[in-house]
Amino acid sequence: MGREFRSDVIVLKTGAVGENHRGATLLARDRGLIRVLAYGARGTKSALRGALQPFVRGTAGLYHDPVKDLWRLNTLDVTGDAGAPAADLDAFYEASLWAEVVLHSHAGGDDPALFDLLDGSLERLTRPPGGPARNRARYAAACTVQFLWRWLAGEGVGPDPGVCGVCGRPLDPGEVTASRPDGLLACPDCAADGDVPIPAAARRWLMMTGEGPPEEALKVGPDEGALKALRVWLCRQTEAVLERPLKTLKAAGGAR
Ligand SMILES: [Zn+2]
Repeated sequence: MGREFRSDVIVLKTGAVGENHRGATLLARDRGLIRVLAYGARGTKSALRGALQPFVRGTAGLYHDPVKDLWRLNTLDVTGDAGAPAADLDAFYEASLWAEVVLHSHAGGDDPALFDLLDGSLERLTRPPGGPARNRARYAAACTVQFLWRWLAGEGVGPDPGVCGVCGRPLDPGEVTASRPDGLLACPDCAADGDVPIPAAARRWLMMTGEGPPEEALKVGPDEGALKALRVWLCRQTEAVLERPLKTLKAAGGAR
């Protein structure tokens, strides 16, 4: 006997299955990552045709066949602005990066922390708390820094921005540090050629805002260049934790 469920979900990835159907990977708040089939979702009359797109958030009507261990997506009631990240290239790129991280997070079980992090991050990305951002690329980079920072902390491997990751020396708040290719934060003595410098102001912003509400962090912050240096550092950290390169970075032409 199969069972029906309703779950809050975020669509991470979709693809065609056969002539008429679509497959998708969803992050469900109460059951982690699930792979679903949406029968007939490529048909012109299907309500799922428009709804089943990456980064759409909503409530899914699901059916589970325990014999075949198959999930079927019957309905998806979209909440929020369905197509918002897709409409802005910078936002779409950042959301793709987060989806890739979550897809490789081995998210399972019923811990809603990862869902809530991604859900809140997508909401802030598409609806900036202080109104539309003047510099969208800068704002999107800040959203990713806050997402990765909290994801790393949630995985129990959050880096300490107050200590050199190589020699262990406490860092002065005014020091320019650098991120090494392996993701370690290096003090000026430990930095080498090819490391990406991290301005002191960027590191101070992260230390000040990393534990508080992300909405507050996004209202202030360093310039675009400093944020991108922080993003490079945290992307390298994330790659080290996932033990794989992030394809989204490659697709967008290196570290941007
Ligand atoms: Zn050092």
